[in-house]
Amino acid sequence: MRPDKEIDAAGLALLAAARTAAGRSQAEAHERCGAAAETADGAVHPGATYAEAGCTALAACAERVAVWSARAASAAPIARIALWMPSSAGAHPCGSCLQVLLELAPGAEFLAQRGDDPPQRLGLERLMPDAFLAFQEPAPTPEHSEDEDQP
Ligand SMILES: [Zn+2]
Repeated sequence: MRPDKEIDAAGLALLAAARTAAGRSQAEAHERCGAAAETADGAVHPGATYAEAGCTALAACAERVAVWSARAASAAPIARIALWMPSSAGAHPCGSCLQVLLELAPGAEFLAQRGDDPPQRLGLERLMPDAFLAFQEPAPTPEHSEDEDQP
């Protein structure tokens, strides 16, 4: 992983919060990730990976938990996300997380660190260059179905 010397003290503190949150993860040892999402109002919202009974269908990754927590707690935009992964090789945010981060934290700075490797800044737009975002209109509600518009 390429070291990134531009990560400031606040970014390193957010990565430390993510690593602390990993200690609350409930998953296989190599999957115990932690994350922290910082909203524009300065609040930090932790997340950790939870993989119930080893079933990936019931699992939630740390970065998604942190972003959902931030969205649930605050209307302030998410300014920065930090992710700490215990493995130094092969670990990477999954496609579901990248999509959620793009939709719920657009424009956020995304910092990642694997084990004790130097932290890195990941570009969500670079990782998901052709991501789809809000290309569909919301589904009509039963009260406003097209059938009601007919004479
Ligand atoms: Zn994920």
